[in-house]
Amino acid sequence: MMEINKEENIRLGLHRSDYMLDSETGSLLQIELNTISASFPGLGSLVSELHRTLINQYGKLFCLDSKRIPGNAASSRFAEALARAWHEFNVDSAVIMMIVQPEERNMYDQYWLAKHLKESHGITTIRKTLSEVEAEGHVLPDGTLIIDGRTVSLVYFRAGYTPNDYPSEAEWNARLLIEQSSAVKCPSISYHLVGTKKIQQELAKPNILERFLENKEQIAKICKCFAGLWSLDDEEIVKSAIQNPELFVLKPQREGGGNNIYGLDVRETLIKLQKEGGDALAAYILMQRIFPKASLANLVRGGACHEALTISELGIYGAYLRNKDKVLMNDQSGYLMRTKVSSSDEGGVAAGFAVLDSLYLTDK
Ligand code: ADP
Ligand code: MG
Repeated sequence: MMEINKEENIRLGLHRSDYMLDSETGSLLQIELNTISASFPGLGSLVSELHRTLINQYGKLFCLDSKRIPGNAASSRFAEALARAWHEFNVDSAVIMMIVQPEERNMYDQYWLAKHLKESHGITTIRKTLSEVEAEGHVLPDGTLIIDGRTVSLVYFRAGYTPNDYPSEAEWNARLLIEQSSAVKCPSISYHLVGTKKIQQELAKPNILERFLENKEQIAKICKCFAGLWSLDDEEIVKSAIQNPELFVLKPQREGGGNNIYGLDVRETLIKLQKEGGDALAAYILMQRIFPKASLANLVRGGACHEALTISELGIYGAYLRNKDKVLMNDQSGYLMRTKVSSSDEGGVAAGFAVLDSLYLTDK
C-alpha cells in the first residue's frame, strides 16, 4: 500500500488508552494505547449502569452515593463517531461492515454499537469474517467496496489484530482488498501500526513528542503518563532487567492479551534472545513494571462470586475523525474499568483474566 501511496482522506480512530495507578508515585501511568479493536465500549457502559442502579437500591447500607460513578456513554459515543464517518463518506445506501472473528466471543459487546447505529442513526451494520470478505467481496474500478452486493462505506475491525486472525492467504487477501478500496478503515494501516508497543516506546523517547505537539504544557502532561520504556538495543537496561526481572515487563508486538513476559521468564527470555543474536531482540520492548495498590473486592464470573485482593486498570476511550485536513472529532468517549486478582500478570476480560468494573470517585 505504501508503494501505491493511495490517498486516504477520511480517517477514523476509535482508541482506548489504558492506565494503572502507580502506588509509589500516585500517578496514572499508561499501559498501552489500543488503536485496533478497542473492546468493551458496549458492555463496559452497561456495567457502570448496573453499579449505579445497585448503589441506588442498596448504597445507603454502605454509605455509597451512585452519583459518584461517572457517566459512561462509551457505546453511544463510539457509535456516533462511526456514524459521522459514515456521513462523511456520503453514500446513503452504504452499510458499515464489522470485521469479526469466526468464533466471535465478544459479539454482545459489539452488538451495542450496531444497535445505536441502527436506532439513533438509521445505519445498518453487517458482520463478516475476513475469509467471508475474500469470498463475497470485490472492488469496483472507482474503488467502491462491494460485499454480498452491498456498498460498504466503513470497515470497522474487531478482528485482524493477531496472527491467528490470518490462518491462510485468504485473510491477507481480504485485508488487502479492503485497503485497496475507498471505504473508510477503522483503523487504517498507519493507525494500526501506531498501536504497537514499539511506537509507544519510541514516542516516550526524549524530544519525540515535540515533533507532533507544540504546546509545552500538553507535552509535559503526556510525558507524566509515560512509564519507563526501552528498546532492547540499550545494553545497560537489558543487563539490569536480567538482574532484576521482577521490575520489568517484556513485550512483543502483539495485541489481545496473554503475550507479555513477566518475572523470571523475563531473565530467561532475554538471555535466550541475546544468544540468538541478529534481530531477535528487536521484536520486543522492555517496560517498567507498574505496581498498583491492591484492595479487597468481590469478583463475579460465570455467576459465582468470590472475594480477592485485586488491582484495577483504567481505560479512557477516545474518538478521532478527520476528513483531509479538517479535524471533525477529537473527543474523550467514556471509560473502561477492569479489575483483576492482584496475583495475575495479564489483564484482559475476554482473555479470561479480569472482570468489568466501574469508577467510584472519592474526595481524596
Ligand atoms: P495487550 O496488547 O496484549 O493487551 P498490554 O500491554 O495491555 O498488552 O498488557 C496486557 C496486560 O498486562 C495489561 O492489561 C496489564 O494488566 C498487564 N501489564 C502490561 N504492562 C504492564 C506493566 N508495565 N506493569 C504492570 N502490568 C502490566
Ligand atoms: Mg491491553
